[in-house]
Amino acid sequence: MTLALRDPVLLETRAFVAGRWQAGTTTFDVRNPATGDLVARVADLGVDAMREAIDAAALAQKDWAARTAKERCTVLLGWQALMLEKADDLAEILTAEMGKPLAEARAEIVYGASFIQWFAEEARRVYGDVVPGHQRDKRILVLKQPIGVVGAITPWNFPNAMIARKVAPALAAGCAFVGRPARETPLSALAMAVLAERAGLPPGLLSIVTGTDSKALGLELCTNPKVRKLTFTGSTEVGRILMRQCAHDIKKLSLELGGNAPFIVFDDADLDAAVEGAIIAKYRNSGQTCVCANRIYVQQGVMEAFTDKIAAATARLEVGNGRDPGVAIGPLIDGAAVEKVEAHVEDAVRLGARVIVGGSRSALGGNYFQPTVLAGVERGMRILEEETFGPVAPLVAFESEDEVIAMANDTEFGLASYFYARDLGRVWRVAEALEFGMVGVNTGLISTAEAPFGGIKSSGLGREGSRHGIDDYLELKYVCMSV
Ligand code: ADP
Repeated sequence: MTLALRDPVLLETRAFVAGRWQAGTTTFDVRNPATGDLVARVADLGVDAMREAIDAAALAQKDWAARTAKERCTVLLGWQALMLEKADDLAEILTAEMGKPLAEARAEIVYGASFIQWFAEEARRVYGDVVPGHQRDKRILVLKQPIGVVGAITPWNFPNAMIARKVAPALAAGCAFVGRPARETPLSALAMAVLAERAGLPPGLLSIVTGTDSKALGLELCTNPKVRKLTFTGSTEVGRILMRQCAHDIKKLSLELGGNAPFIVFDDADLDAAVEGAIIAKYRNSGQTCVCANRIYVQQGVMEAFTDKIAAATARLEVGNGRDPGVAIGPLIDGAAVEKVEAHVEDAVRLGARVIVGGSRSALGGNYFQPTVLAGVERGMRILEEETFGPVAPLVAFESEDEVIAMANDTEFGLASYFYARDLGRVWRVAEALEFGMVGVNTGLISTAEAPFGGIKSSGLGREGSRHGIDDYLELKYVCMSV
């Protein structure tokens, strides 16, 4: 282990179950995707531990829900402050297990903490309704109450923020939380739990159950009747499995699933701004985010100029170990990810696309892939139909507004979309016509705690962030009073 942390206790390798740190009898290896080096050996727990965590959560939840919103808010704000105080160490851990550049890792910690702050504040604004009665003697009240125990399954691409976006509204609403972080990135989740304990979260209210048997751990979260809601970020394929498994108990679900984001550049766009936005929307996290631009549509009249500009900007992106200063593109998460990206590029080239920049694995070897721009991409190529989840920008030419809207919407997914245009009428028309949960207009970066993040169609259910986000963790109860 080579991590130099100011607070070494944050590199916790035991799971946090029912208020106790549990080492378990076996461990699994967490490896640095940049080097393949061992980062830590983490407790490999199974279904028994998951049940123990759920039982403890059910007990702790009652008392937590009975506290005043202000008390919950205060504890959560303490946790948020600790996360910010320890942001450098948390970023080191995150980059070591996941590979993203250190600056992006630090930004993720700040972003994750912002959700804890936001929902801590929202806890105090969970207002119900008093409704005029339907008869003279009737009074109608609508209460909002916590759902209960929340189970969460999170992916590796944002090891801190995907947990923060779920745990914050859950705890703010008065729910308890049992999380299963991705096998690739358990350390950031455990470090968050260390700080949660320090901040004074009551024992058992938050558990982080680490383990390799994702199917068994997931099944328990979906079928244990004490869990009243499941929240998941990951692929649509796994989302479908979880939804099916949750059907028996009719559990509430929040699902943040795959995307296939279009990024459209109209001929009236500010091209330099569009290139800047495309670089962020495409290459952030080496293209491994569910809101990454997956298909870049460029209107015929500006295709040549846009291609030159994005090619030049892409060629400047430095590939390397996320720990090194100046690196913009870290490694992909593993060998399978690199193979998928490679297969998408090969398929496109075989069907007639042209490589403008990059196009293959990096000379650095390992899990590195060169940032790539492909021109002449057309319908029927895999790269437009599936999420590439890598640093490849496929450019597709289009003629008219109607044509590009049809192409953009021609997908089962509906998470993020982006477009650049200056004509006000066009901006309104296109924003309204795009069938996506989120639309970035003249910007490539849209995620923030103040806004409702989420998708439509096969991209999911529910929203994370904004004043709506806490509703996903609350039940409505209608009380009819005769006076
Ligand atoms: P990713 O490619 O981001 O890992 P997945 O949807 O495959 O996306 O996985 C997201 C998370 O769901 C991971 O933590 C993974 O271990 C977990 N997972 C995968 N399959 C299942 C399953 N059948 N039940 C529960 N969790 C699962």
